[in-house]
Amino acid sequence: MSQVRVRFAPSPTGPLHIGGVRTALYNYLFARKNNGIFILRIEDTDRTRFVEGAEEYIMESLRWCGIVVDEGIAEGGKFAPYRQSDRKEIYEQYADQLFDRGFAYYAFDTPEELDALRLEAEKEGKTFLYNAAVRKKLRNSLSMSDVEWNAMLDRGEHYVIRFRMPEDEEIHCDDLIRGHIVVNSDTLDDKVLFKSDGMPTYHLAHLVDDHLMEISHVIRGEEWLPSLPLHVLLYRAFGWEAPQFAHLPLLLKPDGKGKLSKRDGDRMGFPVFPLYWPYGETAKGYREDGYYPEAFINMIALLGWNPGTEQEIFSIDELVNAFSLDRVGKSGARFDPEKAKWFNHQYLQKRTDQQLAFEFREILRAKGFHMDIVRLEMLVGLIKERTSFVREMWDQADFFFRAPETFDQEAVRKKWKADTAGKLEEFKSILGGAAELTPAALELITREWIESKGYNMGEIMNPLRLVIVGSLRGPHMFDIISWIGKEESLNRISRGITFLENPR
Ligand code: GLU
Repeated sequence: MSQVRVRFAPSPTGPLHIGGVRTALYNYLFARKNNGIFILRIEDTDRTRFVEGAEEYIMESLRWCGIVVDEGIAEGGKFAPYRQSDRKEIYEQYADQLFDRGFAYYAFDTPEELDALRLEAEKEGKTFLYNAAVRKKLRNSLSMSDVEWNAMLDRGEHYVIRFRMPEDEEIHCDDLIRGHIVVNSDTLDDKVLFKSDGMPTYHLAHLVDDHLMEISHVIRGEEWLPSLPLHVLLYRAFGWEAPQFAHLPLLLKPDGKGKLSKRDGDRMGFPVFPLYWPYGETAKGYREDGYYPEAFINMIALLGWNPGTEQEIFSIDELVNAFSLDRVGKSGARFDPEKAKWFNHQYLQKRTDQQLAFEFREILRAKGFHMDIVRLEMLVGLIKERTSFVREMWDQADFFFRAPETFDQEAVRKKWKADTAGKLEEFKSILGGAAELTPAALELITREWIESKGYNMGEIMNPLRLVIVGSLRGPHMFDIISWIGKEESLNRISRGITFLENPR
């Protein structure tokens, strides 16, 4: 096989949806797996849909995900430029070529005229198609005399160049994921290729660029599958060898009913974009929500592709190794926000306590707590299992930093007995006399005391937790006591007794 060259070709029309990130990722994995080249091409020929900031957002998203671009706007490359608006001059000659060979024609129908035709068809329950069946009755270079339509061009009237779809032809297409597809040309219309503003449409521009950039495989979203027959015909019209195609399955809503949209995310509280989008109608991002890029990428990779084994956790290198297009499914992949969190949980557990301590320290700083990193390492080691995000750590650890101000009433009712205060006073002297403050040493002396008195564990440990934590949550009691220290623990026990013995 000649060199594998793939491209991710987003249009800068807003923030990049996670479906787009997945397309980029699969292209990237495929390129790496096959020692190929991954290209980022910005498709901005539709100026009406252009959104300021979107191009930077796309590049920043790929960078955050660790998807490394080989050729692109920032990286350069032998087929530069990689932004279609910078390639504007290239496309017209190709539209002309198609016209000269009879594969395309000029059309002058106004948007109003076309709207009227669409409406008419709708009334009869049909969809209007601009194709062989009607084109002779419309205003174009096939229906008018040369003198007539040339005069219109000379007058500067608006025109488009349309592809001349053949009549009643079976078009054969091959897709690496969907197999062989046959479509009758009568079900397709004469798509616009070029407009009088000097801009090509997507169909012409992407195809010319894919050819010029020597793209070997076109891996893109399923929404482009209906256009595949047109693209196959265009390659044939140009006399170019077509690349191989792979159309990726849709990303579906969590309930599996329809395409995943920003609204689903807003409604259910999860992001559908990799990064925060700061313009106009703002949107949440995975990065700002506290996801690790490795976890995000791992989660995305499994939306539509499966390794054929039970393995779920993959580093990017492992993904490269395992990836192949024949394990990409045909049916839509349901997005599961809980699973996304699960992935982050897994990656959080894989981080060292030191890494986590540095991350958590930022949050503590913002709250006004300044902490020794070694002490913090011990702390995150105690609570990380209960968290999926560093931002959740404070809720699991607040009582390490401050004595409780309230006590869980329900727990007090159940666990605080008439003789509890007396027993906790006894415990104070046990703790006060402790020579060693490791959790194991504390546990040992506490057990010995409890056994010698014939108490049971629960009647001591539950109220102890109540006065130290404020409720019955948190990691192992002796880990907490050991961390906050003897003096703070004794203070909390005294405070708790006073408070709970004198209910106001
Ligand atoms: N610009 C198109 C898009 O954003 C690219 C489709 C393709 O990859 O051919 O969907």
